[in-house]
Amino acid sequence: MKNEKTKTENKSAGAKKQAEMKAGAKTETKPFEVDRRSVYKCVQCGTCRSVCPVFEAVGWESANTRGRMLIIKSLLEGREPSEDVLPSLATCTTCGICAAKCPAGANPPEVVEEARSELVRLGITTEGQEKLLSAVTTTGNSFGESRDRLHWLPDAERSKLPEKSDYIYFVGCFDSYRYPEFAKKTFEVLQRFGVTLLPDENCCASPLLRTGFRPDAEKVMEHNLEQIQKVGAHTIITGCAGCYTTLKNNYPEKLRVISVPEFLGEHLGELKLKRLDLTVSYHDPCHLGRHNEVYDAPREVIKAICELKEMKNIRENSRCCGGGGGVRIGYPDISLELAGKRLEDVPEEVDYIVTSCPLCVRNLRDAGGDIEIIDIIELVAMALE
Ligand code: SF4
Ligand code: SF4
Repeated sequence: MKNEKTKTENKSAGAKKQAEMKAGAKTETKPFEVDRRSVYKCVQCGTCRSVCPVFEAVGWESANTRGRMLIIKSLLEGREPSEDVLPSLATCTTCGICAAKCPAGANPPEVVEEARSELVRLGITTEGQEKLLSAVTTTGNSFGESRDRLHWLPDAERSKLPEKSDYIYFVGCFDSYRYPEFAKKTFEVLQRFGVTLLPDENCCASPLLRTGFRPDAEKVMEHNLEQIQKVGAHTIITGCAGCYTTLKNNYPEKLRVISVPEFLGEHLGELKLKRLDLTVSYHDPCHLGRHNEVYDAPREVIKAICELKEMKNIRENSRCCGGGGGVRIGYPDISLELAGKRLEDVPEEVDYIVTSCPLCVRNLRDAGGDIEIIDIIELVAMALE
């Protein structure tokens, strides 16, 4: 199993802090601290052991939820924060199934994210985290792409984009740079309803928040909020589960955010979709399903088009694709193993696996398998032709 290298000679504020400390500079550094009540909620019952997908894949006690909570507790109780804790704390995908099953009401992914922020503050990060930080802060996207974010939109259409609208399509880094065909298809549908785009969208900040770079994330969120205010929109629509949960739950201003499947579900009558002779299965993205309980809308859209044959574990019991929480970039082997396990849940004789998150599409596709994985907008596009 390939573990990620840690990187202490990096450019983050936390790393600079660590370098100063090593150089003997006299700076007061606050000790590691997270919300203690959340940590002590965990009574170490081990219920989560049987559901944590990372533990299932790697088998280390420190990489199951309880192990992560114990490590965080030890950091609170005086353990010296060091790179030794990263293989445990940086391998959580933040899938949230442990929180859904915890009888004590603990929310381990929230605690892990807080702990990661503290480690970043203390200069303890992985190379993958630093790559993400550098990409987002220098280019405004999580891939470090220098191309224009709206490269997928022809110039003629760009010049006609409404400057003001009640609705914005927030494209996200993945669809902008890895799946521009999803962005194109989504915007083709949304344009019918007067939806516009941000003039200068940046990363939603999810990768920074999930990996602990809160102050940097705040700057990116501020930029996007200014853009949203310029357009004057009251609703943000997005096709990425990571963007969805971040815009909805992490932005400093309360935004009305709806996912593409929810928007499509609300407008099924106007879309005039034709029936297709297909049977598909649906993968619930963790950050759309478990974290935000968007389970029905994608299923309604699918059932309006074709047959839906459910996977083995669905809705709140859905298994993670392995892509979230910075695990895909930091621990690709673990990430792909989780995706492979998820593919084992797919029933026989389905034509496609449909999902509503480009990160899930990418991770499940990378895991191989015989059945094509598509985004829900591709299914809708087929039914519109
Ligand atoms: S996080 Fe919840 S389920 Fe897991 S060991 Fe702690 S109390 Fe038990
Ligand atoms: S959020 Fe998912 S990956 Fe993280 S500890 Fe909980 S079950 Fe494991």
